[in-house]
Amino acid sequence: MNHPIILTVDDDVQVSNAIERDLKSQFGNAYKIIKTLSGREALETVKQLKLRNNQIALFLTDQRMPEMDGTEFLQQAIDIYPNARRVLLTAYADTDTAIESINELGLDYYLLKPWDPPEEKLYPMLTDLLDDWRINNPPPFEGIRIVGYPWNPSSHQVKNFLARNNVPYLWLEIEKNEEANRLLKLAGDPAPDLPYLVFPDGSFLSKPENREIAERIGLQTIADQPFYDLIIVGAGPAGLAAAVYGASEGLKTLVVEQEAPGGQAGMSSRIENYLGFPQGLSGSELTHRAVSQARRFGVEILTAQKVVGMEADGPSKKIKLGDGNELLCKALLVSSGVSYRKLEANGVGELTGAGIYYGAARSVGETLKDQDVYIIGGANSAGQAAIYFSRFAKTVTMLIRGESISTMMSHYLVDQIGATENISVCTKTQVTEAIGSSRLESLILTRDDGGAQEAVPASALFIFIGAVPNSDWLGDQIAKDSHGFILSGPDINSNEQGMSTSTPKRIPYMLETSLPGVFVAGDVRHGSIKRVASAVGEGSMAVMFVHQYLNTV
Ligand SMILES: Cc1cc2nc3c(=O)[nH]c(=O)nc-3n(C[C@H](O)[C@H](O)[C@H](O)COP(=O)(O)OP(=O)(O)OC[C@H]3O[C@@H](n4cnc5c(N)ncnc54)[C@H](O)[C@@H]3O)c2cc1C
Repeated sequence: MNHPIILTVDDDVQVSNAIERDLKSQFGNAYKIIKTLSGREALETVKQLKLRNNQIALFLTDQRMPEMDGTEFLQQAIDIYPNARRVLLTAYADTDTAIESINELGLDYYLLKPWDPPEEKLYPMLTDLLDDWRINNPPPFEGIRIVGYPWNPSSHQVKNFLARNNVPYLWLEIEKNEEANRLLKLAGDPAPDLPYLVFPDGSFLSKPENREIAERIGLQTIADQPFYDLIIVGAGPAGLAAAVYGASEGLKTLVVEQEAPGGQAGMSSRIENYLGFPQGLSGSELTHRAVSQARRFGVEILTAQKVVGMEADGPSKKIKLGDGNELLCKALLVSSGVSYRKLEANGVGELTGAGIYYGAARSVGETLKDQDVYIIGGANSAGQAAIYFSRFAKTVTMLIRGESISTMMSHYLVDQIGATENISVCTKTQVTEAIGSSRLESLILTRDDGGAQEAVPASALFIFIGAVPNSDWLGDQIAKDSHGFILSGPDINSNEQGMSTSTPKRIPYMLETSLPGVFVAGDVRHGSIKRVASAVGEGSMAVMFVHQYLNTV
């Protein structure tokens, strides 16, 4: 941990060395002493320290200096560190200036030169000031600080990406948080685009893409090798399970993930039906465990890297990445899962990320304290989200087209929802309009039976409707059903669309697609059961068929 800092400013080298020596001998164990020789140098140091989120406990500055005197320096420095204690070092002739500064600058003390003996004239007074400073200044947050507007889609994207990658951050809301304004001021003119991210080493990014953040925080975005035994597209439960089995059985394995490992399961607040976890576990915990396990076996995981195309290159498969790079592999596993269907209603597109979210968007949870929240959908994912947000929100209303949530939702969740006072279920109802200028403010709800409409105030709307397979990037090289889910194994021969020219002469293995050596597992597969355990099961099984395939080529 970084020690808080005592910063001294004196243009006289001898005096500066003497004060540094005395401060180090008395306070060096608990404070870092930084010596500067001019007001300008000191101010530059102060700015750099602020960007690195170091704490300054005390400024000790000489008054008489050329270019910038002590009071002028303090005036600017306390704008950046308003809580630091301020001590002026003066000659007898400057006593009047020092006294004036007590009121003007909130000067804590002025010291007359020389201060010998320090045990009497320096240490007692500084000890009091530093003790007082410590009581009111807990250690600072040591991770990434984000300055941004609430209800802003880019801020949401950044917070969501960090949260899903388990990277802690401190959210500083502009206009509400003085520290946010201080950091922006340091960024200079013109003001940077928001969100503005300041990293612990003092570097920063302005309105970054996920890829830039991934690189800055040390996540792998570029593959180490050009060729792998097995490449897996998608790091949801199916992809991660396949990675663990593949690498543990000796295959050189790479996983490519467009956002953050975990997939849909990573967004789940509590998975209660996964074998071996009687108390349930959160999606991020499951993901963290799976990622560690995969890495332990030597799996490479690329994050914030989208696969945009695939082609067969002789017996090898070539995948194309969003950044233009290409990678080759002997066998490919498609485990790219599903995304939520977009809600077609007026205003929804404009307000997505500004109060309207697809999936659970747990990073907004705390901001919904005492607010009215709506959820569309009647499956388990919607039910879990309702229970999660009921901990913060005043009311949570679930909107479903059917007559009861018990049609699609697991029994244990239906019971929990029934027992949670601030959750209500509104059946046969849909959202037909979302209204708000810069963020969601209200919704128009329309009844399916009779069309009656009602406008309701709403701070957030979470959408969990239908599943669209993430399979467009494969084009038409692989057989899919009419909804885009990928056909595999016996489904290929029994389905007309599957009789593609690339169908192998042999019968495809289980979980093998219509293109030999390309396998599929999890939610993106035609006929899959949309559950964590089945995705994990299919991912693990797929590796066995990959081995069988590799023995034939
Ligand atoms: C909120 C929520 C709660 C749930 N709760 C439960 C539960 O309690 N119990 C249960 O059994 N099931 C639950 N489910 C369902 C379960 O999470 C899914 O069935 C499971 O995650 C499917 O795993 P998958 O690996 O097949 O796909 P996904 O989890 O969808 O993962 C696919 C991954 O592929 C990535 N990807 C997609 N396209 C590309 C591309 N072109 N390039 C690179 N990467 C790509 C995606 O970003 C994603 O990370 C829940 C789902 C949700 C959304």
